[in-house]
Amino acid sequence: MKILVINSGSSSLKFQLFAVPDLSVIASGLVEEIGEKQGAAQITAFVSDHGENTLKRNEQVSDHRQAIELMSQLLRESGVLAGSSQLAAIGHRVVHGGEEFYEPVRIDKAVIDAIERLVPLAPLHNPANLTGIRVAMEHVPDIPQVAVFDTAFHQTMPEHSYMYALPHELYDTMYVRRYGFHGTSHGYVAARAAEHLGRHIEELKIITLHLGNGASAAAISGGRSVDTSMGFTPLEGLIMGTRSGDFDPAILFYLGRERGMDMDALDRMVNKDSGLKGICGENDMRTITEAAARGDKLAGLALDMFCYRIKKYIGAYMAVLGTVDCIVFTGGIGENSAVVREKACEGLAGLGVCLDAAKNSRSGKKGIMEIHADGSTTRILVVPTDEELEIARQTMAVCGLG
Ligand code: AMP
Repeated sequence: MKILVINSGSSSLKFQLFAVPDLSVIASGLVEEIGEKQGAAQITAFVSDHGENTLKRNEQVSDHRQAIELMSQLLRESGVLAGSSQLAAIGHRVVHGGEEFYEPVRIDKAVIDAIERLVPLAPLHNPANLTGIRVAMEHVPDIPQVAVFDTAFHQTMPEHSYMYALPHELYDTMYVRRYGFHGTSHGYVAARAAEHLGRHIEELKIITLHLGNGASAAAISGGRSVDTSMGFTPLEGLIMGTRSGDFDPAILFYLGRERGMDMDALDRMVNKDSGLKGICGENDMRTITEAAARGDKLAGLALDMFCYRIKKYIGAYMAVLGTVDCIVFTGGIGENSAVVREKACEGLAGLGVCLDAAKNSRSGKKGIMEIHADGSTTRILVVPTDEELEIARQTMAVCGLG
């Protein structure tokens, strides 16, 4: 039997097919530019440990229904899924679970209604996730389907950590509080780090740094998230590719008054035109690092600001946790950028965090990498994240498979 994991975005559908119970990847694919004139779809089937077989399509995909049909067709044609009877379950990534979902759940009408009610909290993501769920449920109504929420892992945060110092009434009536995101990734890499260290996660204090185009930090005590840098939305916290992270919200009132910018323009500015892109015009860390090394001032500033913000969160979470057994770097930047890791840990030796420059700069190594110096009190690890695998694992657990 097999498990299919679906990540349905507003204009794309990512999917991965896993074998049950060992959860080896059988195939992974992507349907892009849904709703655009020209669509693209691709599936790579892993025929064996060494063989790969890639199928590509360029055709218009008008909506998610067609995207799911195209996915089924590609899965069939590549020979990895003859029919839905081979599917044990489907796992769906859902961005916002509000306060209602603190663990993955089997999807039924009540769950769909609850995800729908949460749309105002995640107006860009939850509708796209829901469309994927609805279409998949219609397509294969007899297969168990599970929702895995990005926010769920952080539902263990204590009240003093998730509340904003805003009028309390806003929490009671409008659900204004910090939720945190990237939870599947934070939970997954923390568990892998504990396994790697040969320790029970219940006895560890860990800071996880998910640094990709979106970026967030989490303070994890005994396997439970006690704080995280993203808040009511993914805008808060670390500097990201195009999102500002923390800044004084009074700047928005100032720009509204002085420049006459409306809500949509301000929203676009802080979410799409800020962060690394806002500082230096570029949001790919590879390009930024290269430009900074060539002496480009703004690229250098972007790199410095990005790493300084991470360092501040490491310091804050060391204070939150008291002692820290392990810091974990993950995400496209965290896994690949030695420069970012080095700069983020620079000057932290007094706090027991010592990075080993030689270990840190070893590139191209697959799997978990130890990058702390011998005398470091805190271990520093690079742990590749795998959100799809974690969704498959949680789907399997909810369905009692394996
Ligand atoms: P993610 O959102 O986790 O897929 O991460 C995407 C980001 O990872 C990209 O925007 C790149 O900036 C960054 N990235 C990927 N590979 C590298 C690399 N070798 N060095 C630095 N940054 C990288």
